[in-house]
Amino acid sequence: MEVSEKILTKARRIKLILMDADGVLTEGKVTYGYRDLELKSFDVKDGAGIDLARKAGIRTGIISGRQSAALQRRAKELRIDEIHQKVIDKVGIYKEIVGKYSLRDEEIAYIGDDILDLPLLSRVGLSTAVADAHPEVKKRVDLVTTSAGGQGAVRELIELILRAQGRWDNILREFLS
Ligand SMILES: [Mg+2]
Repeated sequence: MEVSEKILTKARRIKLILMDADGVLTEGKVTYGYRDLELKSFDVKDGAGIDLARKAGIRTGIISGRQSAALQRRAKELRIDEIHQKVIDKVGIYKEIVGKYSLRDEEIAYIGDDILDLPLLSRVGLSTAVADAHPEVKKRVDLVTTSAGGQGAVRELIELILRAQGRWDNILREFLS
């Protein structure tokens, strides 16, 4: 992933990372089982990244159009600050979150994969699409990750932000000592 000075400047301001779920934290597939059993797969590197972001004082949140117990469980496990499911009006929820933490649009990153995410992507300070996002989405964002949804795209974004903010070396040092 090529990172310009413009992107680094935007990444330096980020205090909250908001994510779409299906196609971003997952590959976009939902496996149906017996009765209402629904299975989703999450990437462990994404999870570790979310953990690192939290430790660095960056908040995280999920805004999903669907409702899933698997996602709820994953979000809880990762201690994600904001989890909003079955959201029809993503911008409405976004405004609530922004107000709650007294943030400006410039301080928020959003990562999405489909045209439903465009209203939010056009608003935030650092808009990101996963590698396999819809072409109309990829055309309109600051950043397209090298990894596809559910395969480390979120980790890529988080690492870029932590590096831009000069926090990455400290994190690495912690693990090397
Ligand atoms: Mg999606």
